[in-house]
Amino acid sequence: MDFDLTPEQELLRDSVAALGRRFGHEYFVARAKAGEHSDELWAEAAKHGYLGVSLPEQYGGGGGGITELAIVVEELAAAGCPLLLLVVSPAIAGTILAKHGTEDQRQHFLPGISDGTVKICFAITEPDAGSNFHRLTTVATRDGDDYLISGRKVYISGVDECDHILVVARTADSRDGKLKPALFLVPTDAPGLEYRKIEMEIVSPENQFQLFLDDVRVPAGGLIGGSADAGLPALFSGLNPERITVAAMGAGTARYALEKASKYVATRNVWGRPIGAHQGVAHQLAHAYAQMELARLAIAKAAARYDAGRDVEAGVAANLAKYASAEASTLAVDTAIQVHGGNGMTTEYGVATLLGGARAGRIAPVSREMILNFIAQHVLGQEKSY
Ligand SMILES: Cc1cc2nc3c(=O)[nH]c(=O)nc-3n(C[C@H](O)[C@H](O)[C@H](O)COP(=O)(O)OP(=O)(O)OC[C@H]3O[C@@H](n4cnc5c(N)ncnc54)[C@H](O)[C@@H]3O)c2cc1C
Repeated sequence: MDFDLTPEQELLRDSVAALGRRFGHEYFVARAKAGEHSDELWAEAAKHGYLGVSLPEQYGGGGGGITELAIVVEELAAAGCPLLLLVVSPAIAGTILAKHGTEDQRQHFLPGISDGTVKICFAITEPDAGSNFHRLTTVATRDGDDYLISGRKVYISGVDECDHILVVARTADSRDGKLKPALFLVPTDAPGLEYRKIEMEIVSPENQFQLFLDDVRVPAGGLIGGSADAGLPALFSGLNPERITVAAMGAGTARYALEKASKYVATRNVWGRPIGAHQGVAHQLAHAYAQMELARLAIAKAAARYDAGRDVEAGVAANLAKYASAEASTLAVDTAIQVHGGNGMTTEYGVATLLGGARAGRIAPVSREMILNFIAQHVLGQEKSY
C-alpha cells in the first residue's frame, strides 16, 4: 500500500494545478454567465495532453489510468474549474471506446478525444425511468444495415459542445425477443435528433439538455463493439470511471472552497482577532477538511482498484468514493459560505457559485440513495428494497 503519487503523477498534478490557476474560478464563472463555453481551458488542457491521460498511447493518449484522469479532474476543480465534460468525454466515452469499441471506432474517435478536437457526451437518463435503468424505453430497431433510434433523454450534459452522443438504447434480442441495452454513437446533427437546453441553477459553462430522438438513422458502424451483445459490458465499463472522476471533481471543489474559506477567516477580524481563532469557526473548517481528505482516500483507492483491473472491488470502492465526495463537497461549500458571512453569498468571493454544482453531486450520476441501496444489498447482504 503506497499513499504517495509517483513522480510522474506529481508532475501531472502540479502542471494541471498551474494551468487551472491561470484560468481560475473567475474565468469559469464569467464564461458561465456569458452563456459561453470554457473552450480556451479545454484547448490548453488538450494541448498538454491532459484530456487523453487515461487513453491508450496507440490512439494518441497518455497510456495512464483513471488515477491520472482523476488527478486532472480534481486539480482543475481545485482551481475553481469543475469540468463535467472531462467526465463524460474522456472518462465515460473514452473508456467505453477504448475497452469495447471496434478497431474502426477506436481509430476514428480516440485520437480526437485525446487531442480535444472530438467531444462525446453520454445519454442514459430518461424522463420516465430516472434511477431505474430497467425502465429505459429508447429503442433501436434494425432497418437493413442501419438502426433507427427513437426515444427521449433528459439532463444530458454538454450536447451543444459535442460532435457525438453515446446513446443507451434497447435492441430486440434475436434469440428471445427481449430488449437489452446497446450503445450507439449518434452525431449531434443527425436528422431526427432535437435537443433543448434545460435551465439549471448551476453556475457552469456546461449545460444540460433534453433529447428527442425520432427515427434517428445510425449506420451499423455506430453500434459500440459492432454487436448488441457488447452493450451491457460496455455500459458497465463506463460507470466506474464516471463515478471516480465525478468524485474527483467533488474533492477538487471541496479543496477550492476550503482554501478560500481558510484564507478568509485568517484575516477577517470582527472581535479584535481573526474569526478563525474562534473554535466555532475553525472546527467547522477542520471537520469539512477531514471529510474531504477521507473522500480523497476513497477516490485513490477506487482508482487504484479500477486501474488494477479489479472490477468488482472497484465497483464498491467507486460507489463509496462518489458517496463520500458528494457529501464532503456539499459540506465544504456550505461551510465556506457560512464562514464568509454575507460575503459568502456574493459573486465576488466566488463560493456560492459552487453550490449548485456541488449539490448536484449528491444526485448525479447516481444518487446518494441509490448508492446506499447498492451498499445495503451487495455489501451488507440485505434484501433488495426497491
Ligand atoms: C447536473 C446534472 C448532470 C447530469 N448529466 C447527465 C448526463 O450527462 N447523462 C445522463 O444520462 N444523465 C445525466 N444526469 C442525470 C442523472 O444521472 C439523474 O438525475 C440521476 O440518475 C437521478 O435520476 P432522476 O433525476 O430521474 O431522479 P429519480 O430517479 O426520479 O429520483 C428522485 C429521488 O428519489 C430517490 N430514489 C429513487 N428511487 C429510489 C429508491 N429505489 N430508493 C431510494 N431512493 C430512491 C433518488 O435517490 C432521488 O433522490 C445529470 C443530472 C444532473 C443533475
